[in-house]
Amino acid sequence: MTNGIARKLGYWCEVLGLDGHRVEVEVISPNQVTDEKGETGAHLVGGRRITEDSIVIFTTRRLREDDVVHELLHVRFPEMSEGEVRSETRSLRIARDLNFIGGFAKER
Ligand SMILES: [Zn+2]
Repeated sequence: MTNGIARKLGYWCEVLGLDGHRVEVEVISPNQVTDEKGETGAHLVGGRRITEDSIVIFTTRRLREDDVVHELLHVRFPEMSEGEVRSETRSLRIARDLNFIGGFAKER
């Protein structure tokens, strides 16, 4: 796990009320993933709560910040639909960017 991703995981765990959770990223090969036709080589990113306070994110590719937000949302709010998670991911990213710009403007 790169430092960048570790930092993002820490940040988003806190924002989403998952602080205190240990999150591990497990890189898997596309050869271990089958698509709906049963053929291997598909890409996958998926998060799973392993114990009360630990989470694993499986991925076949380099994680982006959106993936982190998306998968942590699934873990935190298992009742949310895929569509809700997607739109919530977008809003959270926009809100974060606005905060950042706001903070930056205040400093000058
Ligand atoms: Zn999803």
